[in-house]
Amino acid sequence: MKYADLYTHSALKLGGVEGNLDEAKYLVLGVPLDITSTYRPGSRFGPNAIREASLNLESYSLRSGLDVEDLGICDIGDLNVLGDLEGTLQRLRRVIGEALDSKKIPIALGGEHTLTYGCVKAFSEVAVLSFDAHMDLRDEYLGVKLSHATFMRRLQESLGADRIVEVGVRALCREELELAEKANLKYIKSADVIRRGSQWTVKEVKDALSSFERVYLTIDMDVLDPSYAPAVGNPVPEGLSPTILLDIIQPLCDRGIAGLDLVEVAPHYDSGVTAVQAAHIIFNVLAFLQCPASS
Ligand code: MN
Ligand code: MN
Repeated sequence: MKYADLYTHSALKLGGVEGNLDEAKYLVLGVPLDITSTYRPGSRFGPNAIREASLNLESYSLRSGLDVEDLGICDIGDLNVLGDLEGTLQRLRRVIGEALDSKKIPIALGGEHTLTYGCVKAFSEVAVLSFDAHMDLRDEYLGVKLSHATFMRRLQESLGADRIVEVGVRALCREELELAEKANLKYIKSADVIRRGSQWTVKEVKDALSSFERVYLTIDMDVLDPSYAPAVGNPVPEGLSPTILLDIIQPLCDRGIAGLDLVEVAPHYDSGVTAVQAAHIIFNVLAFLQCPASS
């Protein structure tokens, strides 16, 4: 046995996969953005917590019959996040743009939800499917126009409300609800997902997005119930289970996705279970993209 065999991995990489950047199909990028958090900060520690959790999960997805090690991922590390939000989002947009130019699908590990704005802005044409307890549709929050609570409003202004679908909603203010109703922005309440089931939800989402070729998927971990994912910036009761979340996402992967982010893991608020859930969701979504039919 060589001494190197005694090490489990050389550095923190998602799934421990030593991917080849040129050949990779998926570019994994940590975005430790944690600037506008209002309740519980700490999502800057999310990317490495998810990577660490991923090293201790089996990489085989029984739902799809595929192994994440075989899917072609390359984890390029974390984006430099400096103090200014605008500059960081611009750099993020550039990195995502380069990934798209080289025909790779970007997978961003957050970080706070505001990073979705930087990712989506890199696409010339895309619809956004968001799993989140919140709508993130406020015009401003605490005097700030661009934050985790408002970025979806900014995207709605530039993309149009018909290009946004929100699933798992259960925490909002009257202003957000009125905007969604007035603009005809499709949202599905958490209680409806739970009561009507995954097949109903999948059909609702597919009907709403059928005319758009490219869909960007964003998963705010607070869409899960806090009993499954307590370490998030803004936990909200009555959320989804990991099983129903993956039951919904799997068939939605049949048309592929333009990009993915998973955000708002603030790992210091639990003993590790939220990061494990996050890694499990990412492994499975990557496998679903190869195999959207359930088994
Ligand atoms: Mn959010
Ligand atoms: Mn949220």
